[in-house]
Amino acid sequence: MQSAIAKGVFRPRSPFGAALETLAEGTAQLYHKETRELQILAAFDVTSLRRDLAGDVGRFAGAAALSEVMLKMAPPAPLPAAYETLVFGLDALANAELGQADTVATRWLWLLVGVLGFAPQLDACVRDGNAVAGTVAFSAVDGGVLCASCAGLKPPTRLPPQAYADLLALNDLEATLPRLDAAHAAAHRRLVARFIRYQLGEIQGAKNGKAERASAIDIWERGAWVPPASS
Ligand SMILES: [Zn+2]
Repeated sequence: MQSAIAKGVFRPRSPFGAALETLAEGTAQLYHKETRELQILAAFDVTSLRRDLAGDVGRFAGAAALSEVMLKMAPPAPLPAAYETLVFGLDALANAELGQADTVATRWLWLLVGVLGFAPQLDACVRDGNAVAGTVAFSAVDGGVLCASCAGLKPPTRLPPQAYADLLALNDLEATLPRLDAAHAAAHRRLVARFIRYQLGEIQGAKNGKAERASAIDIWERGAWVPPASS
């Protein structure tokens, strides 16, 4: 992971031209200095602008959330599988069916945190490996589902059988993408957002003792751009 500044990018004759749009993908050349945290961008060759992402605010919010997870959760060393997952996720969002952008983003957020090493354990209890059945408890703190005896009387989140089946499908690229109504889509957004915020807090807490806000995740989770359903 590398941050860089593009000097003079907004000048009319900037060598970067229109290449540096938000979420543009390409190859960057840096004037690299070991002692600097923020490098200087020398050149940027665009391979994909993904303008389709900007055409729909739901797609864009999902793409911003995915990018934020990558920026804040990826280790400093290169991780090709994570980069590939991010790129596939952005492509899936750019091609998302109308009304499915949220669900597509939810799936790719789960897949991205998975490849970054934070995959939730969903097939058996995360504490003792016992089978789960019926309404399943989920704990972001534990990092997966809990069996009835571990969940106790007040589990953090309860997933009715359909919600649990949908969560499994969201985490499985081979499975058909579930069609969620607005309420269930919002519940799944909350679930993955809470999971990410918890893991992020752990990473940042370990680094510097305080967690910063995950603003793109917050915006995406609230889905504030969706007009309230008229009755
Ligand atoms: Zn258990």
